[in-house]
Amino acid sequence: MNGEKLRQILHRIDGRGYKAYKDIQGAYRFARYTLFIDHVQGDPFASPSKIRLRVSGTVAGFPGSLHDTPVRRMALADYLARQVARAIRSVARQHRGSGKSGLIAIDSGGQEVLERTAVKITPEWVEARLYVGLPAAGRTVLARQAEEIFFKELPAIVQQSLFWESLNQSEARHFVHTVENQEFIREQLSERGLVAFVANGAILPRESGASDRPMSRREAVPFQSPASLEVTFQLPHPVDGPDGEQTILRGMGIPEGITLIVGGGYHGKSTLLNAIERGVYPHIPGDGREYVVTRRDAVKIRAEDGRRVEMVDISPFISNLPYGRSTSAFCTDDASGSTSQAANILEALEVGARVLLLDEDTSATNFMIRDARMQALVHKDREPITPFIDRVKELHQRLGVSTILVMGGSGDYLDVADTVILMHNYLPEDVTESAREVARAYPTRRKTEIPAPMTSVTERIPLASSFDPSKGKKEVKIQAKTLDAIQYGTQMIELRALEQLVDISQTRAIGYAIHLATRKYMDDRRTLREVLDLLDNFFQSEGLDALDPFRRGDQHPGSFARPRRFEIAAAINRLRTLRMRQKT
Ligand code: ADP
Ligand code: MG
Repeated sequence: MNGEKLRQILHRIDGRGYKAYKDIQGAYRFARYTLFIDHVQGDPFASPSKIRLRVSGTVAGFPGSLHDTPVRRMALADYLARQVARAIRSVARQHRGSGKSGLIAIDSGGQEVLERTAVKITPEWVEARLYVGLPAAGRTVLARQAEEIFFKELPAIVQQSLFWESLNQSEARHFVHTVENQEFIREQLSERGLVAFVANGAILPRESGASDRPMSRREAVPFQSPASLEVTFQLPHPVDGPDGEQTILRGMGIPEGITLIVGGGYHGKSTLLNAIERGVYPHIPGDGREYVVTRRDAVKIRAEDGRRVEMVDISPFISNLPYGRSTSAFCTDDASGSTSQAANILEALEVGARVLLLDEDTSATNFMIRDARMQALVHKDREPITPFIDRVKELHQRLGVSTILVMGGSGDYLDVADTVILMHNYLPEDVTESAREVARAYPTRRKTEIPAPMTSVTERIPLASSFDPSKGKKEVKIQAKTLDAIQYGTQMIELRALEQLVDISQTRAIGYAIHLATRKYMDDRRTLREVLDLLDNFFQSEGLDALDPFRRGDQHPGSFARPRRFEIAAAINRLRTLRMRQKT
């Protein structure tokens, strides 16, 4: 239908009950784009209506070189979602009556660049998926205000954000190129024997504990690698701004093996580790961490007492619990600090983690260390815990798993570290050599206590019948409540301990991905790892658009961002009704 048809319908329903808005559902041609009104909200207080704005590729005019690979496409789509959000801020009045009246929104991201459904680019068209609060006074249609949205504001938003000619082209190019540079580094880490890279000049600290934006450049000390750990990357695109030419980037390479980050309190240890955690995702230019790049298979591990654990073989770390309780198929509804941390490690390994990131601040002390005096006082027979220090080398040598560990409080780890980085006044020094000398000069006299070698990780099979997404009359009730909580049927899945979950649209996607996995992939034979492989394939081939089981045709897919397999697994592992069987 022609756009003018929409105007006629709006005039006709002016002043009527809110339900009359249902009449505007449909597709409307405007001069340079098509408007799809896919879903009309039931009342002004319900979730806003879903619309799409589609511009044909030839009209939009984006150079192919900015979207002809999956990485570029993801980056450009992310950039465009941010431009739509920017245009909304400059154009839309937002409040026009009751409830959500007048709202216009898009799910644009934060500091990380993620594959998301907000903007989709195909060879034929580019499409932005938005939300609109259809205006009402009380529950009466306000057609004039709706007309303003559809015929003034949305056209202006499209004009400002979805045409190459009206964008800041060097900024857009720089955005895509910065993301491509980051992925280029990430691809090379393994073959260069590195687990993470932190560029010289990076700004690691954040504005505050409540903000993910960078600390101001006046206050922050820029990162500078110690000479001995410095590595160089020759990148495909300039790193020094939109019109720059510099393509060589230097910074600290953290090698595989066991890396210790030591130093006095408040000298920037955790800040460095946090940046490395987030480095599994690309960041926007100006974030300060855009060239902190970590391998994709790096997982933050922490203690998380109170969590549920289902059939995890934690015996490499914990055995001989009081009264002979088994730890080779450990279950609990209320894990302790140490058992939860052990479970977190084994669950991460089970689905493919090859780099573990630990911080003393969020670890259970008795899981991390057991010094000579405690070994003398409490005999090994009476201590169920094999501390991490006695497994960390084995993890590397037998299973190829590297560890980066922040540890300012115990020198025992100097014996096992391959690399020791000392943070001093927010700057790193390579103290690996002096750490070796110290370890020789001050032997800890502690004994390595390994009851049995750690050879493999036991895989588990999730039982589909233990997942029930229904609630009351609803067959499927899955909702991301916050970044850290998914409502799954009658259950609440608690994700506060997942420090690498960064966007509520990832949380939402995890909820739906679990549902999809239970219906399509869990057959009581496949292991969790196999189920996640299939999910990854699904994301690769079908894309995030296909996640919502109730989506019809090519309608607005909802707001999803791609989660990592580790966070999906972690959510499954935290579902309190979950049942698993160990693979034999
Ligand atoms: P640690 O883990 O060593 O105790 P943190 O990493 O928690 O220290 O950092 C302590 C404080 O210093 C934090 O408030 C952090 O924002 C700030 N900080 C960290 N790195 C820098 C830096 N490079 N420049 C300025 N301030 C920083
Ligand atoms: Mg700290």
